[in-house]
Amino acid sequence: MHFATRAIHASQPSDPSTGALVAPLFQTSTFEQEAPGLTKGFDYSRTNNPTRQRLEAVLADLEEGRDAAVFASGLAAEHAVLQAFLRPGDAIILPADVYGGTWRLVSRVFAPLGIDARFVDTTDLAAVGAALTARTRLVWIETPTNPRLHVSDIAAITALAHGHGALVVVDNTFATPVFQRPLALGADLVVHSVTKYLAGHSDLIQGAVLARDPAVFEPVRFLQNAAGAVPSPFDCWLTLRGLKTLELRVQRHADTARRLADALSAHPRVARVYYPGLPSHPGHDVARRQMSGFGGMVSFEWQGSAEQVADFVSSRRLFTLGESLGGVKALIAQPARMTHASIPAERRAALGLTDALVRLSPGLEHPDDLVQDLVEGLDAPCAGRGRIAPLAV
Ligand SMILES: *Cc1c(COP(=O)(O)O)cnc(C)c1O
Repeated sequence: MHFATRAIHASQPSDPSTGALVAPLFQTSTFEQEAPGLTKGFDYSRTNNPTRQRLEAVLADLEEGRDAAVFASGLAAEHAVLQAFLRPGDAIILPADVYGGTWRLVSRVFAPLGIDARFVDTTDLAAVGAALTARTRLVWIETPTNPRLHVSDIAAITALAHGHGALVVVDNTFATPVFQRPLALGADLVVHSVTKYLAGHSDLIQGAVLARDPAVFEPVRFLQNAAGAVPSPFDCWLTLRGLKTLELRVQRHADTARRLADALSAHPRVARVYYPGLPSHPGHDVARRQMSGFGGMVSFEWQGSAEQVADFVSSRRLFTLGESLGGVKALIAQPARMTHASIPAERRAALGLTDALVRLSPGLEHPDDLVQDLVEGLDAPCAGRGRIAPLAV
C-alpha cells in the first residue's frame, strides 16, 4: 500500500463501540479497574493511553518500524535515547552541525556525566571511521542537517558503526518518513521532533522514538513511563489528525522549496543556496540515493551586512520571523541569532553559521506568492524594519 493510503488507514479503523469514523480522544488520567490489578489494558495515562497508543501504532507503520514511543517534545525523545544507552565512559559521535538543542543536551547534560561526545563532520565517512572506538556506543546522524542541509550517508555510516558494535540513531525530522526511512536503511533508532512536519500545523510540541528491534526499543519504552515525559492525549489526537495529510503537505513543501531554491540561485544578491535537490549541493548524490524527495527546507547566504539580513528577515509579508519549521505558515529565521544562538560564537563561526545565513521553512501558501515575497526583499535590501513595500500587481 502507498504511503498516503497507509497514513489514512493504517491502525485507524472506525471506533468499534460507536462507529465514529475518527478515533475518539481519551482525555483521561486514570482508568477504572474491575478488581485490583484487573484492567482493560490501561491503568494510568503516563504508562499508556488509548489515543497515544494509536498514534504510536500509526507512526511505527509509517516509519517502517516495529515500535514507537511518543514524548512531550523532540528533545525529551532524544533524552530518553541518550539516557537509555549511554553510561559513564561511553562515547557518542554526532554531526558537528547537529541541531543546537541536541548539541546542548549532549554537551551540557551528558558530557558532564562522563560521556565522551565527539562532534565530527558526518558527511565525511573517513572522519566518522576515525572517531569510532571500542567505547563508541551511539553514532548520531541528522540528515539533512539544520540549517545548512548537509547530507550524511545513513547506510554507509551504519555499516561502519555496526562494525564497532555501536548503535545508529537518525534524527529524521527534516526528511520525514515520506522522503526517508532510516530503519529500512539499517539504522537502529529514529528520533523525531513531531512538532515540525509530522504534526504539521505549528500548534503543539511533541517527539517520537522508533525502532525495529524490541531489545533496542525496550529501554526507551521503560524510560517513557519511568521518567514520564509524555505528551497529552489531546496533542496525540492532533498529531493523528496532522499525519493524515503528511504526504500531501510535505510534497507541497518540497515543491515550493525547489521553486525558492531556483529563484534564490538566480538572484545576484544571493551568495550561496543550500538545498539538497540542487545538483550543485555537495550531498546531492547521497540524497538522491537515500531520499525519495529533497525536503521542504532551504537556506541561503546573502551578500549584505548582518543588519541588512536582520532587517530582511523581519520585514517579509508572508514569511513570519520565528523559530521552528514544517507548519502550514511560512517561517523565516536568522539561525545565528535565533535557533543556534545557544551555540557559542566561536563554534558558530567554525561551523560557518554566519549572520548572513537565512533559513526558510516555506508553508503551504502558493509558491508564486512566497517567491515574490522573497525576491522583493532581496531587490530592495535597504527597506527599514517594519516598512512594507507595496505588493506589485
Ligand atoms: C526542533 C528539532 C528538534 C527538537 O525538537 P523539539 O520538539 O523542539 O523538542 C530536534 N531535532 C531537529 C532536527 C529539530 O528541528
